[in-house]
Amino acid sequence: MLENKKQIYIKTREKLKAFEYAFTIINWDTETEAPVGALDKRSDVIGVISSMYNDLIFDQEYVDSVNYLFEHIELLDELLQREIYKVKKNLDSTLKLPKELLIEFSVVTAKAGPAWVEAKQNDNFSIFEPHLTRIVEMQKEMITYLETNELKGYDVLLDQYEEGMTVKKYDQFFELLKKELVPLIKEISQCEYSYKLDFANKCYPVEKQKEFAKYIAEVMCFDYTHGLDKESEHPFTSGNGRNDVRLTNHYYEDYFVSSIFSMIHELGHATFDQQVSEKFDDTVLEGCTAMALHESQSRFYENIVGRSYQFWQKHFPKLKEIFQEQLNDVSLEDFYHYVNKAECSLIRTEADELTYPLHIMIRYDLEQALLSGQIEVKDLPTYWNKAYKEYLGIDVPNNKLGVLQDIHWAGGSFGYFPTYALGSAYSAQFYNAMKQNLDIDVAFGAEKLVDVNSWLKENVHQYGDYKKPEDILKDATGEEFNPKYYVEYLVNKYRKLYNLK
Ligand SMILES: [Zn+2]
Repeated sequence: MLENKKQIYIKTREKLKAFEYAFTIINWDTETEAPVGALDKRSDVIGVISSMYNDLIFDQEYVDSVNYLFEHIELLDELLQREIYKVKKNLDSTLKLPKELLIEFSVVTAKAGPAWVEAKQNDNFSIFEPHLTRIVEMQKEMITYLETNELKGYDVLLDQYEEGMTVKKYDQFFELLKKELVPLIKEISQCEYSYKLDFANKCYPVEKQKEFAKYIAEVMCFDYTHGLDKESEHPFTSGNGRNDVRLTNHYYEDYFVSSIFSMIHELGHATFDQQVSEKFDDTVLEGCTAMALHESQSRFYENIVGRSYQFWQKHFPKLKEIFQEQLNDVSLEDFYHYVNKAECSLIRTEADELTYPLHIMIRYDLEQALLSGQIEVKDLPTYWNKAYKEYLGIDVPNNKLGVLQDIHWAGGSFGYFPTYALGSAYSAQFYNAMKQNLDIDVAFGAEKLVDVNSWLKENVHQYGDYKKPEDILKDATGEEFNPKYYVEYLVNKYRKLYNLK
């Protein structure tokens, strides 16, 4: 019986994974190369394939096999145990929701997307307001279906994006950030900036930026026989197991550092995907689905390595060689301070390393307040602007640059934002542990990041989705998630950068 159920499970898994592969490739093509005129046909095709995919997931024989294997989980090998645990959890949460609710949710969010675009373009929150009101209502309803003995309220959503995270843990985290970072940011905003800045927005030809991006890929040891990079509007990485890892970048002629740090960031995601153990090939564990853990790796490379002095000491000469004309009179010190400049700003995606988590904290507080009914959607802009004034000390001039800037809520992704800040915090905790084993000056300043890659492979990447994020963190760093490392890292780094006592 057990063998038979296993066979059914594995056969369906093979089909599901084939569909997922196809979805990723179609999506990759849409984002990078597909002609605009092909979009209608493409949505029809996606519709057909999606319904075939759903038929497979809800196939009774498959559902029964997962349930059976879950009931006999102690008889399975460890790898299959973890797989079944994850599959069962996902399946349960989908099956617990009434089908009509799921369908309505996809219709509501499909309409909310264009409404959000229109509202943003016209700086008119009221266009988006009824859609968001409905989304919040539906999220609340969904929570009631998904609650378990352990997970209640907002915790249900937080756990979907980062297994094991709860309001209690996030509250402690954000409280500490608020206490330590808000005063530091105020102090820094009064400092005078004495380094060169005029090079930043000169014209940097795209072809040359691409040349440097390829150089960075070599530094990070990206394996082009099992991966590739292209251009898209917003940079992203899509993994299909370790053998097919693709990333994109976006190049602005008048804002060249954007492509440098996007490249490092996406290569961070890609390195994670490429370094997963071959043991997990073709299983559901071959790619990490914990959002914060994945983000911790991209941010580790982007900020902790990529914005370090050691890294640029090694690679700034190459950058200068490629952009001789633009960077002729720019020193390493100028460049290093420029890429680490802290400034309170309105837009989350453009925020620096220090102020970024406060943008997230604001969204986290507002999500919680909306879901608990403490505030209503119609009052959201007021609360948004109040929070930006309080934490970042800035006035929000309009909703376009305020509450309407992110797409997440239009897609119904409540509980997603906090993972961005958590990822940075994890990365600082990993850094603290890495420092005990590696000579950071040597590792970050090396011609290729071989030592950094192997430390992360050993402690994080190899496991894919096999271990829970909390266990990876604990095993790699010797303790549970502790936000003090993140705060310490930011405070030390920025006090030094700004010469503060
Ligand atoms: Zn990322």
